[in-house]
Amino acid sequence: MVTNRTFTMLKPDAVEKGNIGAILDKISASGFKIIALKLTQMTTNDAKTFYAIHKERPFYGELVDYMTRGPIVAAILEKDNAVEDFRTLIGATNPADAAEGTIRKLFADSISENAVHGSDSNENAAIEGAFHFAGREIF
Ligand code: UDP
Ligand code: MG
Repeated sequence: MVTNRTFTMLKPDAVEKGNIGAILDKISASGFKIIALKLTQMTTNDAKTFYAIHKERPFYGELVDYMTRGPIVAAILEKDNAVEDFRTLIGATNPADAAEGTIRKLFADSISENAVHGSDSNENAAIEGAFHFAGREIF
C-alpha cells in the first residue's frame, strides 16, 4: 500500500470565499507535492457515499447539502507521513479548537463549514483518491 499519499478537498465555503490559491499555497509551502488536482462538484449521491461513515450522525443531511452546494477542489498530495502530517496542517475539526497557523484556524468558520477535508488513514486516502481521480489523472 502507498503510505506517502493523502487526499484533500477544499470545501465549498473555501471556494466561495476565494481561498483556493491561499490554501494550495500553504499546502505546497508545507512540503506537500500536488500529484492530482481538479475543480469539481459532488452530486448528492457522491456526498452521501463519500461520507457514508457518518450516515447515522445528526449532521449528515446538512453535511451532504453543504458539500454539494458548489464546487470543491479535490487533490491528491504526496509527502512522507502524508496522512498524519496533513491532519496536523489542517487542525481540529472545529476551527475554535484548531491550533494557530492551521488551515482550519486561518480559513474555517465553524465545525460544519471547516474549509478542508483530510483523509484519516492510508486506507481511506487510497479509497478517497480513487473516488475522485482516474489513474491517468494522477501524476
Ligand atoms: N461535521 C459537522 N458537525 C460535527 C462534526 C463534523 O458538520 O459535529 C462535518 C464537518 O464538515 C467535518 C465532516 O462533518 O469536517 C466530517 O466529520 P469528521 O468527524 O470526519 O471530521 P474531519 O475528519 O473532517 O476533521
Ligand atoms: Mg473525518
